[in-house]
Amino acid sequence: VSRVIVVGSGVAGLIAALEASVRHEVVLVTKSQLAESNTRYAQGGIAAALFPDDSVESHIADTLVAGAGLCDPEAVRVLCAEGPDRVRDLIALGVAFDTDTNGELARGHEAAHSHKRVVHAGGDATGLAIELALVAAVQKAVVEVHENAFMVDLVVADGAVRGVELLTPAGRRTLAADAVILASGGAGRLYAHTTNPAVTTGDGIAAAWRAGAVLGDLEFYQFHPTSLAVPGNPLVSEAVRGEGAVLLASDGSRFMTGVHPQAELAPRDVVARGIAGQMARQDGAPVLLDATGLGRDFLAARFPGITAVCEAHGFDWAAEPIPVTPAAHYWMGGVRTDTEGRTSLPGLFGVGEVACTGVHGANRLASNSLLESLVFAWRAAHALDDGLGGVAAATPFEGAAIPGGSRLGEENEPASRVDRAQLRQLMWDAAGLYRNADALEQAAATLDGWTAASADRSAAATVAELEDRNLLDLGRLVVRSAVDREESRGAHFRSDFPDTSAAFAHHSSYRLTPEVALVD
Ligand SMILES: Cc1cc2nc3c(=O)[nH]c(=O)nc-3n(C[C@H](O)[C@H](O)[C@H](O)COP(=O)(O)OP(=O)(O)OC[C@H]3O[C@@H](n4cnc5c(N)ncnc54)[C@H](O)[C@@H]3O)c2cc1C
Repeated sequence: VSRVIVVGSGVAGLIAALEASVRHEVVLVTKSQLAESNTRYAQGGIAAALFPDDSVESHIADTLVAGAGLCDPEAVRVLCAEGPDRVRDLIALGVAFDTDTNGELARGHEAAHSHKRVVHAGGDATGLAIELALVAAVQKAVVEVHENAFMVDLVVADGAVRGVELLTPAGRRTLAADAVILASGGAGRLYAHTTNPAVTTGDGIAAAWRAGAVLGDLEFYQFHPTSLAVPGNPLVSEAVRGEGAVLLASDGSRFMTGVHPQAELAPRDVVARGIAGQMARQDGAPVLLDATGLGRDFLAARFPGITAVCEAHGFDWAAEPIPVTPAAHYWMGGVRTDTEGRTSLPGLFGVGEVACTGVHGANRLASNSLLESLVFAWRAAHALDDGLGGVAAATPFEGAAIPGGSRLGEENEPASRVDRAQLRQLMWDAAGLYRNADALEQAAATLDGWTAASADRSAAATVAELEDRNLLDLGRLVVRSAVDREESRGAHFRSDFPDTSAAFAHHSSYRLTPEVALVD
């Protein structure tokens, strides 16, 4: 039996811990309460070829189209072929997916899926149903759980990851292990507007970067077109526009009709950019979503969750248009892994949103991310049986070595302390839905002038300061990646390079320059 640390308790971390606990000693650490994660807020559902009129091949084809030429075909095949079994595992664990009047699994239809294949639970509360069922299962399994345990950094010895450094309410401590599975999610909090909860500060990706792991495709961040423009940015489903709601500028005029022939029903990234462009023209003020034509009874019956959220924020959306903004939603980039979660560092695995298997390419197909977590976390837990060392030899990718991260910032005197709100606004403005070389270069210079309070690792840094350090490191990396990709593809749009270029039909990979890594 080997000792394994799992970092994070969303769907990916819980599945990895459950599966690994059968054969290994597992310690699960998570920075907040066990159930807190992006997972618990997921609404629409999980896509999988579970139905007789659907096929794995069709799901593969849809995923490849969404990925805009950058999907890793092997990762996509694994996702779509193994997905149905992993969804059945959830059903066996007690996740009560919604059924139709015949008692069969109900299935939703989402944009860019050529078949109805999205299963959901509690209407629009799929993530919560999964999270609670998995938390209950982990609590019954032999897994040592540490809540409120913030991973500060990975422990690296002789080039291999051998544990984690934690900040807990009782102070700093180090936990040793034979392997670490990162399942710490994305970094929506990099942006001024995001659907992601407060825990989503990219800590795992930043720690892997500092440890020398190869990261990939960081320039690809998916923005959801419509979130309610209030703190926390709750999602307003695309289905609302599908039912006939329209988008209005602050003067009450429709603007999407001038952007795309399909207007409000254009592809997700087109609508998101259309809204962002209109917001820029009205000094950042949110646009309006007018659903009043749908009628009060219909809205309450079809969208009970959104109706409740609107009411909680003082909006009566049956009577008045509501303010909406795009919001950072899902990171296609992350720690580069193979299809069994192996990273470029021996002893380090990455699963779920923290990882970049290449399965989503330049843009994620809706409802493929819960599935990604299920499939690849399961595979990583089983890959542990094949040995914990020497995984670097099995990984085929090599990153372009670039200096970066908070340590570089320390060299630029005088540096001023990073302010999280300013950082998030800068990322939104320069590295959000519209990007160009001038704005990105200026953002890079601004980021270089900032330092994080926690840069001195002996300091008694707080969790918030450590998160700021991570966001600063990741902000620099996203900007760098966005500068380097001189084309537009999927979620990455450069107004100075609006076309897709065959010269960039490849993944981007980066790792920290070793000399810089040795600075402290
Ligand atoms: C509002 C919303 C709706 C969505 N709807 C859908 C949908 O319908 N279908 C779909 O497929 N996807 C959807 N997604 C995306 C999907 O929810 C996520 O991609 C997926 O849940 C990621 O799972 P994960 O386990 O990798 O990470 P998460 O669920 O984000 O879990 C990460 C975990 O790591 C912990 N953690 C982070 N940093 C540290 C640290 N330093 N130390 C210790 N612990 C740490 C966190 O506390 C958390 O427990 C949605 C996302 C959002 C935000």
